Amino acid sequence: MNILAFFYINPMYLIYVGPAILLAIWAQMKVKSAYAEAGRYAAGSRLSGAEAAQRILNYHGITDVSIEPVKSFLGDHYDPRHKVLRLSPDVYQGRSLASLGIAAHEVGHAIQDATSYGPLAIRNGLVPMASIGSQLSIGLIIVGLILSYMAMSFGQALAVIGLGLFGVVVLFQLVNLPVEFNASRRARQVLLSNGLVTPVEDKIVAKVLSAAAMTYVAATITAIMTMLYYASLVLGRRD
Ligand SMILES: [Zn+2]
Repeated sequence: MNILAFFYINPMYLIYVGPAILLAIWAQMKVKSAYAEAGRYAAGSRLSGAEAAQRILNYHGITDVSIEPVKSFLGDHYDPRHKVLRLSPDVYQGRSLASLGIAAHEVGHAIQDATSYGPLAIRNGLVPMASIGSQLSIGLIIVGLILSYMAMSFGQALAVIGLGLFGVVVLFQLVNLPVEFNASRRARQVLLSNGLVTPVEDKIVAKVLSAAAMTYVAATITAIMTMLYYASLVLGRRD
């Protein structure tokens, strides 16, 4: 049997990771439909996402963050290194509740940064190791396992190192959850308290933001189950 096929057609992989992947697909569909629904409601305040974001920054006295459009669908993010809020075209120019909600969520990250919110600092500190981990860990595990099947003793050690690196990826995802939930909570509060949305509009904004949060939960569960699957392969070997 082709040894690589073992990793990809292994039914245990589907048992471990399959349900989490289905959850992730469901969450993606949910976020798309919530985004489309909220996109059909024009915000009563008549502000675009960029204008609302600028107002919220002003309310919080944050003057060192700039707002730029970025050409990628749902590619909205806050870049703490360059202090730039990048908003996708629909969010930047759009005047829908979806645009306002997502713009306010990204400002939520800028407020976290400005107030040195602990979990954000930890998450940012994990970025370098987590990005190395996401590129190398699975490769190291698979190469390590292949070598150990070929009775090369350092294969097992290599696989354990890969597992450890994947652990950093999982840790990153876990720390990311409070960061994302907190940004959405701040977004809703600040939109409401400044009259940028009405309580009725807030319910629609909440739908988009909780659907988006679900995608992070699904990604985290997928990462944990992937780690458990590989851990069962690496640590289950007795030789
Ligand atoms: Zn976010």
